[in-house]
Amino acid sequence: MAERTLVMKFGGTSVGSPEALRGMAEIVGRNLKKWPRSAVVVSAMGGVTDLLLAGTAAAIRGDTDLVKHAVRDISKRHMDAIRAGGLDPETGEAIEGFIRELKNLYHAVTILREASPRAMDAIASLGERMSIQIVAGYLNQAGVRAFPLEASSFLLTDSKFQNASPIMLEIPARAKPVFAPIFARGEVPVVTGFIGATSEGVITTLGRGGSDFSAAIVGVAIRADEVWIYTDVDGVMTADPRTVPDARSLPSLSYREISEMAFYGAKVVHPKTIRPCIERGIPLWIKNTFHPDHPGTVILANGQTTSDVIKAVTAIRNQTLITVKGGGMLGIPGIAARTFAVVARMSVSVTMITQASSEQSICLSVPSSSGKAVQAGLEEEFRREIDREDIDAIEALENCVIVTVVGEGMRKTHGVSGRIFSALGATSVNVISIAQGSSECSISMVVGKDDEIPAVRAIHALIVSKENVL
Ligand code: ADP
Ligand code: ASP
Ligand code: MG
Repeated sequence: MAERTLVMKFGGTSVGSPEALRGMAEIVGRNLKKWPRSAVVVSAMGGVTDLLLAGTAAAIRGDTDLVKHAVRDISKRHMDAIRAGGLDPETGEAIEGFIRELKNLYHAVTILREASPRAMDAIASLGERMSIQIVAGYLNQAGVRAFPLEASSFLLTDSKFQNASPIMLEIPARAKPVFAPIFARGEVPVVTGFIGATSEGVITTLGRGGSDFSAAIVGVAIRADEVWIYTDVDGVMTADPRTVPDARSLPSLSYREISEMAFYGAKVVHPKTIRPCIERGIPLWIKNTFHPDHPGTVILANGQTTSDVIKAVTAIRNQTLITVKGGGMLGIPGIAARTFAVVARMSVSVTMITQASSEQSICLSVPSSSGKAVQAGLEEEFRREIDREDIDAIEALENCVIVTVVGEGMRKTHGVSGRIFSALGATSVNVISIAQGSSECSISMVVGKDDEIPAVRAIHALIVSKENVL
């Protein structure tokens, strides 16, 4: 039988400081005893991707002082880690090479005063390309023989720069000759998260937070038995612990529940992440680098996982609620289709939709950054209907937050929404709009910015209450 294989992914905070890097190396060393055939996938050191992109924005503006600042900060983060870890001089030389590449790219952007999506990816990819050097260095120091590996050598994607999709059918065959010799030498491949390459070998990125996705892709590519995502919290929790201090860790979640949570704002995993693993039945665990003995959360393919009716509450900030409404809409066919065609043409992703049963209004929530443009696009589309007063107006309500309650148990239990809305009423939260997911696994509601925290906390109190059982 083939040897069992594990993929471990470490996020930005887990590789963000010398202390975290030492902890990471200890965890890998310990896991290797049970899983001698393991691959590691890593993010850029925490904050480095943001710095790389801030430097690019400064270069576009021609702000050379800020560009220099970004280069200095990025270089210092890595050099400090090298010094603190006592890594060998080759690692320092490798980082210096990447910093030279970064300076050249910034110089080109400063001259051109623009950066194409392709150039943005060349720059953003440097964070992960540097971090594999540092992580491999720390592992070698801890006695784990590690080999830094750029995913561009096997992770084939389309050429949609900044949000590329993997070409899953071709990746395993490309990965095999890359990984096999590393495993044969008894080394641990340390793979860049977040990045891939087109068939011409041009570097792409999978979108912000994409390292989780990389871990799942590598898991599939090397036929891993399990994928463990190490982050800075005890697995997936009942709410974002930054908003709800008494949030609890969830022992297990279904694929549908975690997908809804990720879509509706739980940053703990990237929404697309889990799919490749779930499709192939690979168990996925979310664990804590800073608390490695905690079991974390396992994601299961199907079904009810615990007896809680509702599992978690999430929030997405910075939304604009657009309403198309008017008494004359009732008689006009195709208003909804035209509304969504406008949004699709603008490549805006709609976070939530509600339509009143009277068909006199359609509400859609979009990220605030596109709110004004969507409103203008709809006004243009419905100019005639507005002039005829069939449609009153296209309204845009800014500063909204979508709060979502997630749990498969809601399907089997009556009165859950009643309980939720009574709790919100009791805390004087004003719910502006409501939608229930078709899977009945989530209920979303739009509230104003100031109502977010009271709403999330009121719902969280229901999650931890004794009544929340099937
Ligand atoms: P990484 O750098 O390891 O990928 P992220 O910052 O992307 O980590 O994701 C982890 C963070 O997600 C946590 O620190 C936490 O603040 C946030 N988070 C939001 N919602 C949740 C939730 N429901 N459960 C756990 N963490 C959450
Ligand atoms: N470094 C990338 C980001 O910050 C990818 C990741 O961390 O998952 O978006
Ligand atoms: Mg992340």
